[in-house]
Amino acid sequence: MRVGVLGAGQLARMLALAGHPLGMRFAFLDPASESCAAALGEHYCGDYGDTALLDRFAAAVDVVTYEFENVPVACVEYLARRRPVWPPAGALHTAQDRLHEKTLFRELGIATPPFQAVNSLEELKQAVAGIGLPAVLKTRRLGYDGKGQAVLRQPEDIDAAWHRIGGVPLILEGFVAFQREVSIIAVRGRDGEIRCYPLAENIHRNGILHLSRSCVGDSMQEQAESYIKLLLEQLDYVGVLALELFQDGARLIANEIAPRVHNSGHWTIEGAETSQFENHLRAVCGLPLGSTAALGHAAMLNFIGTLPPREAVLAMDDVHLHYYDKEERPGRKVGHATVRATAADALETRLQRLLDVTGLR
Ligand code: AMP
Repeated sequence: MRVGVLGAGQLARMLALAGHPLGMRFAFLDPASESCAAALGEHYCGDYGDTALLDRFAAAVDVVTYEFENVPVACVEYLARRRPVWPPAGALHTAQDRLHEKTLFRELGIATPPFQAVNSLEELKQAVAGIGLPAVLKTRRLGYDGKGQAVLRQPEDIDAAWHRIGGVPLILEGFVAFQREVSIIAVRGRDGEIRCYPLAENIHRNGILHLSRSCVGDSMQEQAESYIKLLLEQLDYVGVLALELFQDGARLIANEIAPRVHNSGHWTIEGAETSQFENHLRAVCGLPLGSTAALGHAAMLNFIGTLPPREAVLAMDDVHLHYYDKEERPGRKVGHATVRATAADALETRLQRLLDVTGLR
């Protein structure tokens, strides 16, 4: 089976690392000349709109998938006329626009913060009057890791926020005073079978994921699964889908979906029977899905900008190191480590030690 991946970053790299043992071969299409997945397959370097390149790429693979949600929908639609592409273009279209995403949540009865589309300063003032403060103003498209966002706490913040990120389609959301952020990752096969991973609890720093802990037996698991199953069915989805949620009391409030493997699921590489990467490949290739059961307790720590000393991390028990072969640069995800233990308290002790060793406490 030859798998084509749009994008050749660390997610594509980890897909390929999971797929090679299953006898899969990989081709990556990415405009960047240096891509960290390229060592694991053939790199088609060029633009997502280059149809001659897309033709060559399609001819070289049996199935196409993607590792990030800002791939142009037109590129996916073009390829879908030549080869099966999963997840479907409709899911990509929805996930690219926060307004579409939240409208879908609302239609399916999935709780969201109150929200309203904003296209002018006047509309922003009206939306603030309806939703109240505090609120979060976000660009509808191309926002990630907290970019393209402004928190409005008082009426004086309105003009400044508009001048900072206005001029493109925006959405205003009510601010959720959440107790914690969680995500659920699930996979749906071509035959419609769905399997869900245990919830992950996520901690962000400067808008970027810092730490994820698997939450085996969490009291919110059932609610999260009911939400993601609705989305998978509605989108006629194939592959791994991630849903990011806020917990407010006993309620989960949906923030956003990612139609791909997700950073909060990296712990599944060593912490689950079948990793999110392998299950994504199994799904898009029409193979039976693997068990999503956890192997004990796990936590994942991201390395942002710089890598820790390899020796110190590798000297620890049951810690698994992943370098992405990317140049160290501020704000860039360059690697992660997963720590595992059979009991929750042992995991916490190990995690605290890992935070010390890596200087990331
Ligand atoms: P996002 O890009 O939507 O994932 O937002 C980045 C981060 O901003 C989230 O992980 C939250 O910590 C915070 N955030 C986003 N939306 C809201 C909201 N409506 N209320 C409170 N915090 C939010």
